Amino acid sequence: MIRLFPGLSAELDAAGAITTGSNDPEMGDRSIFVVRGGTTIRIPVWWTGGFCASRVLIEHAIRARVREIPNVTVRERTLVTGLLTGENGRRVTGVRTLDGDVGADLVVDATGRRSRLPEWLERIGYRPPKESVVHSDVRYASLVALPDPSFNPEWMIVLAAQATRGSTVGGVVLRVENGLLHISLGSTGRRNPIPSDIDELRAFADRMTAPVTAEALRRSEPIGPVRTYHVRTNVRRYYERMDAMPSGLVAIGDAASASNPVYGQGMSVAALGADALGRLLAAEGGVPGPGFERRAARAVAAVSSGAWRLALTEDLRYGCRTEGARTPWTARFDAGYRDRLERAASLDPEVAAAFNDVLNLNRPPAALGSPAVARRVLRPLRDRNPGPLSATVLAVLGVS
Ligand SMILES: Cc1cc2nc3c(=O)[nH]c(=O)nc-3n(C[C@H](O)[C@H](O)[C@H](O)COP(=O)(O)OP(=O)(O)OC[C@H]3O[C@@H](n4cnc5c(N)ncnc54)[C@H](O)[C@@H]3O)c2cc1C
Repeated sequence: MIRLFPGLSAELDAAGAITTGSNDPEMGDRSIFVVRGGTTIRIPVWWTGGFCASRVLIEHAIRARVREIPNVTVRERTLVTGLLTGENGRRVTGVRTLDGDVGADLVVDATGRRSRLPEWLERIGYRPPKESVVHSDVRYASLVALPDPSFNPEWMIVLAAQATRGSTVGGVVLRVENGLLHISLGSTGRRNPIPSDIDELRAFADRMTAPVTAEALRRSEPIGPVRTYHVRTNVRRYYERMDAMPSGLVAIGDAASASNPVYGQGMSVAALGADALGRLLAAEGGVPGPGFERRAARAVAAVSSGAWRLALTEDLRYGCRTEGARTPWTARFDAGYRDRLERAASLDPEVAAAFNDVLNLNRPPAALGSPAVARRVLRPLRDRNPGPLSATVLAVLGVS
């Protein structure tokens, strides 16, 4: 993201976002906690570069930056409804919108998980791409809250994701700008509808294994409504494998690969796709050469496939039904290794750092199997020094 928008970090900082990854004394000993069942992985915030900020702030800052690019025109309150073609349908030459046609040398579909590109391709005579679908049936309830002044937890972010084995409920609490907390509760699968009423939500959080979400809800006052969201399916579309595809067209971000949002990787995947596309175009002198659409589709797939596989492996562990998604042969091994890795990460800072890098897509998932990491993961757990996990924090998380 920062490569795409140099200086964005300082802007977000000035707007009150909390920048991690520095030795800022104000951060003190704050950490990111990933909790599952009896395992807590502690990642000191100064290890990991990123922001704690609301989605609204991040999108506002990026939108302002994009508007500053001299050859960018934003057309608001309109909809793209189809593709324009030339060269007997072999080339996409623009898009149809509710406000008229717009010509283009390259059309980039970034319309997100509800992209209608497969249908638009069919309309101009192409077979749509093959898809993998995961029925994750994810439900969210989120709110922003003002914590009471005495609530000063040691964590910066807590991901109490899938808090116990076999449970599909999870919670996320993070500090965002202006001293606020963002609190989300979610579930994967049909069994756990998430309430949208604040009192019911508090009661729901009280029943969770890791009491951190309940504690945050109890000790803060919502400053807006509880917003709910329901994502039935996650889809990967294999544009890079299409037998025939028109030139002048590429799909990026969720339009190409939208995995389960609970893993929080979609914005990074979208940014990595934009970056890959930019590099490819730069390498071709700014003008897409013949076959660009295939190279672009492959580049986008290369940066999104790791996140898709991580999410799919997790979803399969929780029994989500899939269609067209071949279970990776490594899934069983991945899941077993991941269990062990998480236990090792809770005790070994170097494994925690590698785990965090992969979760944040700074390194590919294969990095977790590198000899250096694998050696530490496979070492007997009793040989490790658990490090200074504070008793208070463990009590709050309910994993002491
Ligand atoms: C509840 C929830 C929580 C999430 N949490 C996280 C998180 O913590 N971290 C993270 O990294 N990711 C998270 N994600 C995923 C993340 O939101 C997406 O992966 C990311 O926004 C994808 O970016 P995108 O640009 O591809 O698509 P989007 O952000 O979906 O943008 C698509 C845009 O295209 C517009 N559009 C759609 N159709 C048309 C059309 N026909 N014509 C014109 N415009 C159109 C839409 O209005 C929208 O503005 C979450 C997602 C959800 C649903």
